[in-house]
Amino acid sequence: MIYADNAATTKMSDAAMKTMISLWQEGWGNPSSLYTHGQKAKEILEKARADIAGIIGASSKEIIFTSGGSEADNQAIRSAAAYGKRQGKWHIVSSAFEHHAVLHTLKALEKEGFEVTLLDVHENGLIIPSEVEAAIRDDTCLVTIMYANNEIGTIQPIREIGAICREKGVLFHTDAVQAIGHIPVNVEADHIDLLSASAHKFHGPKGVGFFYAKKGVPLTNLIEGGAQERGKRAGTENVPGIAAMAEALKESVTAMETTAAHLIKVRDRLITGLRQIPHAALNGDACHRLPGNVNFCFEGIEGESLLLLLDDKGICASSGSACTSGSLDPSHVLLAIGRVHDVAHGSLRLSIGEDITETDADEIIQAVQEVVAYLRGFSPIWRDLTTGKKDFIL
Ligand SMILES: *Cc1c(COP(=O)(O)O)cnc(C)c1O
Repeated sequence: MIYADNAATTKMSDAAMKTMISLWQEGWGNPSSLYTHGQKAKEILEKARADIAGIIGASSKEIIFTSGGSEADNQAIRSAAAYGKRQGKWHIVSSAFEHHAVLHTLKALEKEGFEVTLLDVHENGLIIPSEVEAAIRDDTCLVTIMYANNEIGTIQPIREIGAICREKGVLFHTDAVQAIGHIPVNVEADHIDLLSASAHKFHGPKGVGFFYAKKGVPLTNLIEGGAQERGKRAGTENVPGIAAMAEALKESVTAMETTAAHLIKVRDRLITGLRQIPHAALNGDACHRLPGNVNFCFEGIEGESLLLLLDDKGICASSGSACTSGSLDPSHVLLAIGRVHDVAHGSLRLSIGEDITETDADEIIQAVQEVVAYLRGFSPIWRDLTTGKKDFIL
C-alpha cells in the first residue's frame, strides 16, 4: 500500500507510540491528584507543555490542551468573539477556504449576531495581506486565516497578516493544523494571538491537540467542570496522548529540514508527472506550498471514481469532493479558487509523508495516468469535450 493521505491523518511515529504505551502502563495517574503517582503524571504533562511551547515560541502558560484541532479552532474563535462582544465589536474577517471547524463555528456565530466577511482566495490559493487590511473595520474583533490549506497545501503570508492585525489592534487566530510540525511556525515572529494544532497531523495520536493563546487574551470555556488547564478546559487531561503529541512534535521539528527537502523532491516529481496528463491542472501555487501536498484537477472525470480505482491499485489518496458526508457538492476550497463545478469534481489530493520513495511516486503517476484515461473512456462529459460539444476549460 502507498499511503498518500497524510493531510487526513498520519501514522503515529514509533517514539510517540512507545511514549504513549509506557505511560498508559506506568504513568496513568491523575495529574490533579496530590500523591506522588498523580504528581508524576503532572510533571509529564507540564514537560509536554513546556516542550510544545518552546517549539512554537510561546511560554507554557499560553498552551491549552484539547481533544484536537476542531476543538482548538472552536475555542479560540469563540473566545475572541466573546471578548469582541463585550467591547461591542461584532465583525470577524476570515476566508472562504478555511477548514469546516472554522467555517461552521463562524456560521454559528452569525446566528448569534456576528457579521463575518469571508475574503476571496486568489486563483493561486493565496490570501493577499492588503485585502485583509482593507476588510478590517473599527468593529472587527478577530481575523482568522489558516496557516496552510489542508486541500491545496498553499501556505499563507501569515507573518504579514499577523503584523497588520497587531498594528490594528485586532486579535489574529490561525488554524495551523497543517503547518505545525511541517514548516517553521513561531507565534512571536508571526504576530499570532491564537493558534490551533492537532497531534494526528504530525504523527501523534488522534483525539489530542492544543491551542496557543497569547498572554492576556481572555478565554471562553467550551467545557465547564474542574479547574484543569488553568480553569479554561475542564476534564482530566489525556496525559499519555499529550506526552505522545509532544514527542511526535519534537521528532517532526528535529527532522523538519531533511523531511521537507525529501518531500519537495518527490512532490515536484509527482507534479511534473501528473502534468503530462492532458487537460489537467495543478491546484494552488507551486512554490508557496506544503512540502507534501499535490492537488490536481482532471477534466472530464469524477474524483470519487478515481479514488476507488486508485484504492484497487493500493494507493490511498483523497479527493476534494465531500462524498463521505453524503453531499455531492464539490470542494468549497476548489470553488473558492475559482474552479467551476465540473472541473472541481475531478480532483485528486496526494499528501505524501516521509516514507514515500521516488519509485512510489512513479507508481502513483502511472496509476493515475491509467485510471484517468480509463474513466475518460466512458465519461459523457469527456465525450462532449472531445466532440466539441463543450469547450475544454483546462
Ligand atoms: C484536520 C484538520 C482540522 C481538524 O483537526 P482534528 O484534530 O481532526 O479535529 C482542522 N483544521 C485543519 C486545517 C485540518 O487539517
